[in-house]
This record gives sequence, structure tokens and C-alpha cells, in this order.
Amino acid sequence: MKKNEVLRQIPKIDEVLKEHLFSNAFEKSGRDVVTSVTRKVIDEVRAKILALGDNELEHYDIKKLSISRIVDEIKDRLEADEVNHLHGIINATGTILHTNLGRAPLCEDAVHNVEMVSRGYSNLEYDVKLGKRGSRHDILQDLMVELTGAEDVMIVNNNASATMLVLSAMAEGHEVVVSRGELVEIGGAFRIPDIMEQSGATLHEVGTTNKTKPSDYEKAINENTGALMKIHTSNYKIMGFTEEAELDELVAIGKEHDLPVIFDMGNGLMVNLAEYGLDEPNVPASLDTGIDVILFSGDKLLGGPQAGIIAGKRKYIEKMKKHPLARALRVDKMTFAAMEETLKKYRDTKVAMRDIPVLRMITTSREVLLEKAMRLADKIRTANSKLNVKIVDADDQIGGGSAPMVFLPGVAVAVTSAEVTTKWLERLLRKHEIPVIARIHEDELLFSVRTVLERELDDIAAALREVE
Ligand SMILES: *Cc1c(COP(=O)(O)O)cnc(C)c1O
Repeated sequence: MKKNEVLRQIPKIDEVLKEHLFSNAFEKSGRDVVTSVTRKVIDEVRAKILALGDNELEHYDIKKLSISRIVDEIKDRLEADEVNHLHGIINATGTILHTNLGRAPLCEDAVHNVEMVSRGYSNLEYDVKLGKRGSRHDILQDLMVELTGAEDVMIVNNNASATMLVLSAMAEGHEVVVSRGELVEIGGAFRIPDIMEQSGATLHEVGTTNKTKPSDYEKAINENTGALMKIHTSNYKIMGFTEEAELDELVAIGKEHDLPVIFDMGNGLMVNLAEYGLDEPNVPASLDTGIDVILFSGDKLLGGPQAGIIAGKRKYIEKMKKHPLARALRVDKMTFAAMEETLKKYRDTKVAMRDIPVLRMITTSREVLLEKAMRLADKIRTANSKLNVKIVDADDQIGGGSAPMVFLPGVAVAVTSAEVTTKWLERLLRKHEIPVIARIHEDELLFSVRTVLERELDDIAAALREVE
């Protein structure tokens, strides 16, 4: 066939866009969207034909140009466009706070409250009792004071924002004394020395990488010192011949020289998890030492939404609330909604352990994990009898730059196939409708059950059904 004749077989847009073919799509995506996708598909077909050589043209399958084939292609594209770029995945890595996987999953009540508060209007900045303007800063005030013993609290976008605001409000134009062992890089462009510079405060380093004594801070104090700061080295550990100043020691020095003590504690742990092998500071105990201001993330071990929480002495927090940066760093009603429900759980430690996913995952017993792994293994065997399935021990982790040296003894289901490589299996699961993120260890695909939610067990089995 001549090229011209083939080109003439391409349906016209109007021939394709028939009401009965697209009534659903017109309703769902909108007429303009369907029309523009149709135009694009037809243009692409035309461009392809124009690029064909004589020989290829000879063998061209003219059925490709039937209206039904073109309509199918358009519908596929419309469907693909409907899939969101941000969507749920199944975390079978056993790493509880995976920064790449959205950190802390929210508790059910937090999710529900986000829906309740964001579907309609809310009293975000309105005092319903008095019938006049209120402040969003008051929303978490009473609860945080009750839970931490701090005088006042403020919530911002994340802990990086909190650091920026705290330093700007408390130490702009002044020196902040920090140990050389605590000049943390959290990831991305977040490095303490850089943030310090941005905030207008000057970093005054003291001590050495492995040893900093209380007297090092004391010696650094001069007329231009604005604050003493301790930063929790959340994502690394210095071991061996080491020494660091404890919070209460810094508090004593601060008192003597009339300087505030700031603690960037990072992970926001609210309870004591020492019995689970987690030797981390927690918020109430840190505040108990008498520090002036603490700051931490909302979506690490606190188990809530992305946020930075600043708690401490009223005179400093008041200043932060009035700082010009406060408006730029403020959080939305959805964050407040999720945070309030999450924090309420902490009124009773047992309730927090039961309902907050991050805490529940950390504290799940081996027996429960083993039982869950056995059920997953059974489901996988039932779904696909050709796979090799067994139960193995796994080293689970806290992740998200928290407790880097802590390995939680976990249980995983290990899967291999005689037909396909483990790499291929891993990729297949990742590309599944609900992507499953698993990890390869010694050429086996491991599904660590600690981070897998109950309802996701069936999804994993279903994804593996497709392996030949
Ligand atoms: C995680 C962390 C931060 C950054 O917190 P984001 O909420 O990710 O902005 C800052 N400081 C410390 C010590 C941290 O652990």
C-alpha cells in the first residue's frame, strides 16, 4: 500500500469521539481531556506511519487503525492518567521509619480526624465559645503541656523548620555553642552548620569529635554567647573513647551564665522504650532536666504527621510565635487534625503502644511476628505452589535516621523461584498494582512482617500469584 492510502485509513477525531464509546470517560475525565488524548493518539499514529520505510509499509497491519483499536488505546491512556503519582505501597522491608516511604504511618483515629476536619470548615483560627478570632497556636497547647510538662508549645512544618525558627528567634546575631561531635547532617541539605548560618546565628564549636566536656562549653562562653545547644546524633553513633555533656550539666552551666539551653532531639520519642533495646532520649525526660527549649519531628518515633514541634519555656516560644518566619513555616489544619489525635493517645502509654503504628511495630513480640509470618507463608504457598517459601530470622530496623545501631529481631518470609531470578521477583513486586517493597538478602526475597499491615498479607500473596 502507498503511504498516502495508509494515512487515509486513520480515523478522524470526530469518528472516534462518539458519545456511546466514551460516555463514562466524558463524565469522569471531562470532554476536553478525552479530546486532547484522542488528538494525541491519532497524531502519534500518523507520525509513526510517516516514519515507516517502504518495506515496513508493505507489512503494516491496517487493523491497527480500526476505530476499536484506537478507542482502546485512548481508554488505556485515560486510565493511566487517573493513577496518582503519590499512592500507597506495602513496606515489607522491616524498616519502620523509612524516609523514602513516607516515615510514620498514621493511626486510624488521626486519619479519620483529617477527613473530618478537612472535608468542611473548621475552627482553625476561630474561638467558637467567644465568637471571635482565635489562634491556631492554641490547638495543641493544653494537650502538649499535659503530656510533656513544657510551659508552651508551637508546631511548624518539620524539625528542620523548627531548628531554623528556634535559632533565629533565640540567637540571631549571637553565638551558639555546639559540640564538634554533634555537627549533624540529617540528609538532603540539612547540616547544622549551614542552618546555623541561615538563621543568622554564629556557630561556636567546642570539644573534639569524640570528646566534649561540660567545661568546654563553659570556656566558650563570652559576652556574645546567645545559647548552648545540644543535638541528638540520631543517625550515627560515636563509640569507643568518648565523652559528651549531659543535658543536666548544660542546664547547670546555662543557669550560672543566664543562657538558654536548646535540645534538638530529633525523633520525638514520648515514652521510654529501653526495655525494647531502644536507648534513646525521650521528650518528657529531656524537658525534666530543666532545658529551655526542645525540638523534634512529628513523623519519626512520635508516630504522627510531618511536623516540627517546639516545646519549652513560654518566654522563648512566645517570641517564636511572633517571629516573621512563623507564618512561613506554619502548618495546615490537616496536620493539626492528625497531630491532635496522635498526641491524645499518649495520655495512656498502653493506648499509645496499642494504637500508634510505629510504637506497635517496635514493640510487637516475636511470637506475634512468627505467627504472622506463618500465615503469610501459607497464603503465598496457596497462591503459588511453584515458589519456595520458608520462614527466616530478619534484622529489622527503626530507620528514618533513628537509632542506627539498633536491630530488632524480626521474622520474615523468604521466597525464591526455580524459574526466575530473585532480582526479577523483586522487580515484579515493585511494579505490582499495589507495589510491594521487599528486600533481597543472600539471593532470597525477604518479606519482613513487622512493617506489613494485617490487610496487606493477601495483597502480597496476590502479587506473587502472577509468577510463573
Ligand atoms: C530528623 C532530624 C532533624 C530533621 O527533622 P525533619 O523533621 O526531617 O525536618 C533535625 N535534627 C535531628 C536531630 C533529627 O533527628
